[in-house]
Amino acid sequence: MDFRIKTMKQAAKTLLTLVMLLTMGGQAYAGDLSMLNVVGAENASEEFTAAINNSISKIPDHILDYHKKIGATVSFSRNNLPGYDNTIAGIYYYDGDSRYDVMIRTDEAFYANYRFDLATTLPHEIGHFVWNVGFRDAASEEDRRILKEQYDFWKNYRFDCKNQEETFAALYVTHLNYPDHLIQEANDMFDRCEERIGLLNGAEESSQ
Ligand SMILES: [Zn+2]
Repeated sequence: MDFRIKTMKQAAKTLLTLVMLLTMGGQAYAGDLSMLNVVGAENASEEFTAAINNSISKIPDHILDYHKKIGATVSFSRNNLPGYDNTIAGIYYYDGDSRYDVMIRTDEAFYANYRFDLATTLPHEIGHFVWNVGFRDAASEEDRRILKEQYDFWKNYRFDCKNQEETFAALYVTHLNYPDHLIQEANDMFDRCEERIGLLNGAEESSQ
């Protein structure tokens, strides 16, 4: 009897894995934390580490690669992020030497009590990185028009679309996970930003 239950459980597990693979839609990416400069890895539980790995699994490798290559870090903190109260899940630094660094909260109680979701925290902050490197000084007029229109639309529905840069970071996560929730030209705009970072990453590689 025991054996049968085990077999059924195993079958269910296999099926679940298969369904998960199918819903990933054949993405070739498999980004995880080993591709980033992580500081304070011990501050995340095994479960949180797995959830964070999963959250960045759809980000193209070259984005994570470039983040690491330029020396940017991702720090895990169980405590309040410096300079903020207890309502911030992640921060992205974009001034001075640490302009590309990310810090994220990793304590269980914080995520249990607030509206934040570990599945979106790190990809949102990476979205700021994509904005900073692939959009801010590099975007075409068309890209800027698309972002402005997305902001003008989504600010009415999403609390995280406070300004154009926040809208970019927030919608980047949507672009990764639910591209069909965005219009095609928004997805195309994100693809172009990712491509620009791909060029920078390639240039970095060939200069070494
Ligand atoms: Zn943000």
